[in-house]
Amino acid sequence: MQGQMLLAAIDTAIVIGVIGIGLHVWVTRQVRVTGILLTVFYMCGMVAAVYASDAALIYWAFPTTTAAYFLVKPREAAFISLVALIALQPIMIASVASVEQVGILVALTLNNIFSYVVARNMQLNAHELAQQATRDSLTGAGNRRLFDEKVLELIAMQDRDKTPTSLVILDIDNFKTINDRFGHIRGDEVLINLAGLLRERLRKGDGLYRLGGEEFAIVANQADQAMALGLAEELRELVETSDLVPAMKVTISLGVAECDAADDARTWFEKADAALYQAKNRGRNQTCIAA
Ligand code: GH3
Ligand code: MG
Ligand code: MG
Repeated sequence: MQGQMLLAAIDTAIVIGVIGIGLHVWVTRQVRVTGILLTVFYMCGMVAAVYASDAALIYWAFPTTTAAYFLVKPREAAFISLVALIALQPIMIASVASVEQVGILVALTLNNIFSYVVARNMQLNAHELAQQATRDSLTGAGNRRLFDEKVLELIAMQDRDKTPTSLVILDIDNFKTINDRFGHIRGDEVLINLAGLLRERLRKGDGLYRLGGEEFAIVANQADQAMALGLAEELRELVETSDLVPAMKVTISLGVAECDAADDARTWFEKADAALYQAKNRGRNQTCIAA
């Protein structure tokens, strides 16, 4: 409407680009890379618009730099904003009175600092919430919710690539006696130390989960029943020979089940649970495999 065709072309390019990137996210679900692309793209657009029109458009630097903190990680947003601010300096020096220049620069810097602090806090809170929602607070192992998600994910993967995966469920033997003799606090310590002991031995891909009370599960990635049995026996001996409670032998019983093509999450878990039950019935401190 003002007859500034170059500016109109830049604006149109920005709108088309943003819509294109939006569609790209919609289709690929790749939020991370696209967030960076989008931020760099519209920041370039903002700088180009200021140069193509006049320095008065500098006020667009406020919403654009703030938005960056919602789209990418705080450090990346700070970096991209800094580069944009540096890119804007020549036109500001050429066409804005120096007192105003300083004012704009200070305001933009403060705007970026506040945005950074808010975004960083949001990032930390999100991380903390995710931890709380998926971790057992006593032992740091994954909780039941994370375990259920992991099992569903593995069942879905099984249908595609047929790598074997096994489940090991373990339960402390006569834990009630440990609590009764040494108290609940020492009982808690046993759980913490046991989780630490197991984690030390497990491979990186193998997840440790606390299913409740003194019962844990291990998802042994790329392990068939025989390999999982070997792992289970190794863990059982490790617990038996380590001093989790001084002057008292702590032992565990374990059940092992490999995931079959016909298994769903429930049947797979039930197989491992039945094997654990059998290990208890046979006298504890041993491993059984699913029938
Ligand atoms: P079994 O060999 O058959 O497994 O016997 P058990 O005594 O280990 O099993 P039972 O299920 O009878 O008792 C489990 C005990 O675990 C009872 C409960 O007080 C205790 N427990 C459950 N959660 C916790 C916890 O977070 N901390 C402590 N200290 N004890 C717990
Ligand atoms: Mg027990
Ligand atoms: Mg139990």
